[in-house]
Amino acid sequence: MFLDEFWAFEKSNCSWPMEVDMPEVERYEILVIGSGEAGKHVTWTFAQAGHRTAVVERKYIGGSCPNIACLPSKNVIRSAKANWFALHGAEYGIQSGPVSTDMKGVLNRKRKMVEGEVQAHLDRFKATRAELVRGEARFVAPKTVEVQLNEGGRRMITGDRVFLDLGSRAAIPDIPGLAAARPMTHVEALDLDRLPGHVIVLGDRAWPATRRRGRS
Ligand SMILES: Cc1cc2nc3c(=O)[nH]c(=O)nc-3n(C[C@H](O)[C@H](O)[C@H](O)COP(=O)(O)OP(=O)(O)OC[C@H]3O[C@@H](n4cnc5c(N)ncnc54)[C@H](O)[C@@H]3O)c2cc1C
Repeated sequence: MFLDEFWAFEKSNCSWPMEVDMPEVERYEILVIGSGEAGKHVTWTFAQAGHRTAVVERKYIGGSCPNIACLPSKNVIRSAKANWFALHGAEYGIQSGPVSTDMKGVLNRKRKMVEGEVQAHLDRFKATRAELVRGEARFVAPKTVEVQLNEGGRRMITGDRVFLDLGSRAAIPDIPGLAAARPMTHVEALDLDRLPGHVIVLGDRAWPATRRRGRS
């Protein structure tokens, strides 16, 4: 989202920090917060066109899709399909022995895929000469963020044009007892190294992998 004037600043409690060791403000033509789907393409496009561009990302290089959502879920579903075909091989004229699922192997395959995706994103940021700043951004003035760097320290960055791609996160609804039961969201579910004995699904859509494994 492009904000010509960062209107939210007016409504918030943002203010310049009072610390005396405030880092110098670095100026970029394009400042992107969040490296998800829109954020990374905005970054790459402007950077490739020769604009001085920085993107701030606090955790997931390339956003949710390659790290914890679209691609990991399809990767795990693929393993579930392999399991299904092995179990139903005879229907297709294929003979096989006993079939079991090694979730550590499933997880390992998924992690390798994610690592490859992250590296491909890092290579693209480098190739386009966009600066990837790893840390959490918060606005401290119009079009200006303070970044708490992941490796420690802070940077102050301002952009002539600022784009926000902050994404969304799974929420635990306010159902009595639910939070205390420590439910998994898609993030934990896609990082399991064991096949749960039973699963209760609240909501639907993101769970075909579980269904295809024949457990519900
Ligand atoms: C299990 C699952 C499967 C899915 N499968 C599909 C699919 O097959 N096809 C499909 O089209 N969609 C799918 N989706 C939806 C898709 O993943 C999301 O729509 C998409 O990833 C959202 O992209 P985004 O750029 O808006 O946000 P995100 O990808 O979440 O990017 C936002 C980024 O901003 C960063 N960020 C936020 N605040 C700050 C801050 N203050 N400072 C620095 N960084 C910050 C976050 O760390 C994050 O990396 C799936 C979702 C789930 C949960």
